[in-house]
Amino acid sequence: MKTLKETLVSLKEHQAILHYNIATYEQYKAAVVAVSETGLPMLIGVSEGERGYVGMTMAGQWVQEAQKKNLPIFINADHCKSDTTAMEAVDALYDEVLMDGTEFTEDENILRTKKVIEYRNHIQQKIGREILIEGEIGYLAGSSDLGGSIEIKAEYLTTPEQAIRFVQETGVDLLAISVGNVHGVPQTILQGGNALKSPQIDFDRIKTIHSSLRQNNFNTWLVLHGGSGLTDDDFVHAIKCGIQIIHLNTEFRNIWKNSLKKNLEKDTVNPYKILNGVVEDLKNRIIHYQQLFYTLQ
Ligand SMILES: [Zn+2]
Repeated sequence: MKTLKETLVSLKEHQAILHYNIATYEQYKAAVVAVSETGLPMLIGVSEGERGYVGMTMAGQWVQEAQKKNLPIFINADHCKSDTTAMEAVDALYDEVLMDGTEFTEDENILRTKKVIEYRNHIQQKIGREILIEGEIGYLAGSSDLGGSIEIKAEYLTTPEQAIRFVQETGVDLLAISVGNVHGVPQTILQGGNALKSPQIDFDRIKTIHSSLRQNNFNTWLVLHGGSGLTDDDFVHAIKCGIQIIHLNTEFRNIWKNSLKKNLEKDTVNPYKILNGVVEDLKNRIIHYQQLFYTLQ
């Protein structure tokens, strides 16, 4: 089976991978069933909160179990807010770790991300297993939930110069950028003096960041977080501008909750008969995005 790095290297132009977060077994199972049906690769993310609930080791073992069956499912320690939690995920041998230092100053973010990269290099050399590190530059507002109001300030958006400096100084494999995307699905987004109903992605910014990195000989993969609330056309456009991993969490959390409510109405107390309905609903949406992102070209 290909590693995550080999999978990303073999992506054709205008192909991207779905990144989907989990906190429960049926969310994990939905990914397994989807990938068994499509054969297309995908990433499972567990944030600090999600892995606090599932358990870092347990989530890792679930994914390793799928990999043993040759299913191209990979695990990412999503949004590690400190170099300490990021290094714990490296120790847990996750396929990918996102060091999110965006709550620190830019220099501090670079410093902490670099520390994680150095630690990864050390562990990788010792055990001979590839672990990719994602960094984040620019600021992503919001949290993965519904409602509320979010403001995107102009200084939150990633500039090409910032992206180049960050990649040059840290050596990250993947880069999450802020281009008008937000976490969650807020009711209103305040941006540039306007109240928006849905995020307005700055596609030219993605394109410029992508081409600037390539001109400087960096093959960094670009990651778009906060996919919930965007349209299929937005995704297609973002992928054509250079995005190769797309994160969707809130939309799937919403499907999980609504499907669970619906399936709890069944006239049974049998957990797997109830939860199989949830797996089915999640799986169908995963397949929709897998096919949309991967088979574009
Ligand atoms: Zn995110």
